[in-house]
Amino acid sequence: PLSTTDHIESQRICVCVRKRPLNKQEINKKEIDVVSVPGKGTLLVHEPKQKVDLTKYLDNQIFHFDYSFDETATNDLVYKFTAKPLVQSIFEGAMATCFAYGQTGSGKTHTMGGDFTGRQQNSAKGIYALAAHDVFTYLNHRRYANLDLSAYVSFFEIYNGKVFDLLNKKAKLRVLEDDRQQVQVVGLEEVYVSSAEEVIKMIQMGSACRTSGQTSANANSSRSHAILQIVLRRNDRATTLLGKFSLVDLAGNERGTDVSSNDRSTLVETAEINRSLLALKECIRSLGMNSDHIPFRMSTLTKVLRDSFIGEKSRTCMIAMVSPGMASCEYTMNTLRYADRVD
Ligand code: ADP
Ligand code: MG
Repeated sequence: PLSTTDHIESQRICVCVRKRPLNKQEINKKEIDVVSVPGKGTLLVHEPKQKVDLTKYLDNQIFHFDYSFDETATNDLVYKFTAKPLVQSIFEGAMATCFAYGQTGSGKTHTMGGDFTGRQQNSAKGIYALAAHDVFTYLNHRRYANLDLSAYVSFFEIYNGKVFDLLNKKAKLRVLEDDRQQVQVVGLEEVYVSSAEEVIKMIQMGSACRTSGQTSANANSSRSHAILQIVLRRNDRATTLLGKFSLVDLAGNERGTDVSSNDRSTLVETAEINRSLLALKECIRSLGMNSDHIPFRMSTLTKVLRDSFIGEKSRTCMIAMVSPGMASCEYTMNTLRYADRVD
């Protein structure tokens, strides 16, 4: 079994992969599982029915990450090795970010715990809820009592490069950069919260807002990035920012090849998603190389996360989600190649 190590605590960037189980439909269709997790940091994409023998595989089928989670991993376990170490860091003044990356249907929202459509009973047990719980545990802890802190929540989505406030009736917001390169989402709601339950309530509200008015709610939400931010502020006159945790449920990374290419709005959507995911990769890589130049202006997504990419105390974790089925193989490989290059 895995155990938390100092290794991950001290890392600026952590990249993990999570494989979801085959679902009922896939099992009914006799879908074949082509993804194996033979070691704690290794993941393998293989031919069907072949026995897993690591020596037999080409380099381009084996991927190495900080952690890889197989289909038996719970959200609790994933949380412990990914977002949990970041929660404490925001109490030390860090800007932390946790990304869920992968194709639509691979388990991003399941992992984050943002599925409040009623289909999912355990939605309160995802990373959102677990992180919120820990934030209040620290907030009420003696060690941080003298900091005199309060927590606030923002929740917004980025669709086609535009920001919509999920805690304020999907109001469309502008992103401005001032002459000191500070980026601001003008008018973004920041709601004071005094318990993890209140955070969940906000997420529920925002999720309902996210999908309302759509003919195909899931199809649409998979085309936008959802960003939940838990913000720590001092209870001083200026409510000075101490730390911030951004939890990002990214848009599906599937390429435009599978969608009807004569639908212009879909093409625009896809181009925008590809652009923002490319920008994200570039920013995380620059962060990892301690580069002075972070190309955050490349997309709205990276712009609004700018303060998470700068500063010595920036911490980032990416969880790449993969579907196990052979039908998803191409997407799975794309996801793994992306995650492989982030770091
Ligand atoms: P995404 O947000 O990436 O589009 P979802 O999180 O909505 O994908 O997952 C698609 C479906 O698979 C959902 O019904 C979800 O409950 C299920 N699922 C995803 N990951 C897991 C997992 N690790 N264990 C069990 N079910 C999962
Ligand atoms: Mg989703």
